[in-house]
Amino acid sequence: MGHRYQSILETIGNTPVVRINRLAPAHVNLYAKIEAFNPMGSVKDRLALGVIEAAEKSGALRPGQTVIEATSGNTGIGLAMVCAAKGYPLVVVMADSFSVERRKLMRFLGAKVVLTPAAHRGTGMYNKAVELAQTHGWFATHQFENEANPDIHTATTAREIIDDFADVGLDYWVTGYGTGGTLKGVARVLAKESPKTKVVVCEPEDAQLLGSGQEQARNPDGSPSAGHPAWKPHPMQGWTPDFIPKLTGDAVAAGLAGRILPIPGPMAMQASRDLAAKEGIFVGITAGATFAGALKIAEEAPEGSNILCMLPDTGERYLSTPLFADVPAEMTEAEQGIFDSSPMFKAI
Ligand code: PMP
Repeated sequence: MGHRYQSILETIGNTPVVRINRLAPAHVNLYAKIEAFNPMGSVKDRLALGVIEAAEKSGALRPGQTVIEATSGNTGIGLAMVCAAKGYPLVVVMADSFSVERRKLMRFLGAKVVLTPAAHRGTGMYNKAVELAQTHGWFATHQFENEANPDIHTATTAREIIDDFADVGLDYWVTGYGTGGTLKGVARVLAKESPKTKVVVCEPEDAQLLGSGQEQARNPDGSPSAGHPAWKPHPMQGWTPDFIPKLTGDAVAAGLAGRILPIPGPMAMQASRDLAAKEGIFVGITAGATFAGALKIAEEAPEGSNILCMLPDTGERYLSTPLFADVPAEMTEAEQGIFDSSPMFKAI
């Protein structure tokens, strides 16, 4: 901030860690890392830059080559920004159940958005993207298996967290998983450089893929060969697809996920609303879910604990979703009362 940057891409990362003042129990220090400060408003801006620049370096992505990815939205929005800034055409494949503003945002940034039937879930959009990439010789970013995804979190997100808590130490780090890039990339650094930090991984109560203990069926490249039996639809867009991503599985197998915490959908929604109305922190549903998990940890944590939770994206992305369902467009009775309490514009 307060800098002269050579490209929008230089503004990715270095997101602020902000203290929670009104919603946190008094005996702990609860902080949130607000990824909405990234240029396109989500943590996935990091992955987009990391994956594209790793592919440029390795030669896997040629100048002017089309990029394709299956994504529930934030990855596509981040990739659309990075591809626009660098001049690559982008095709995004997403299930038609995700919010309309996500599609429009990507198209506004110059991407092509291809919709797949929601009934075929995450695996359906993924398989369509693989088929399109093979048909046309496009560069598929493979966010669920690509090591450039956790690598960018090791190089940026983890360094920021280590630096921001260098003076006081960090007792708990709370996250969720979409690909598991954030989890794998940050948790392995914490394990090495801050071993006292307990890693808490939240997932939807309706889709406890990790909590079930049931293994994920995989192809030789680590991609899912079938949906996971414990998956059910849940409201946390961007979390827990209908399979355990390879990167998430790696983190669990390496013992990096200290505790798995199920979060009920309504609790996630309420936590997001509370963060906005009581802290002035405007974030999405998975942010609410992660914060709900952090509050639970906070209640049980010893006096003076330092707790950090990830808030992955902005609330602005959810205007057409159930998060805003109870927010009226017309004046409420109370607002009408305020209007009527002074003479201007009142009906004669
Ligand atoms: N929340 C939202 C809203 C997301 O879009 C994502 C990424 N899909 C995540 C959380 C999880 O991030 P990661 O892919 O690094 O696990």
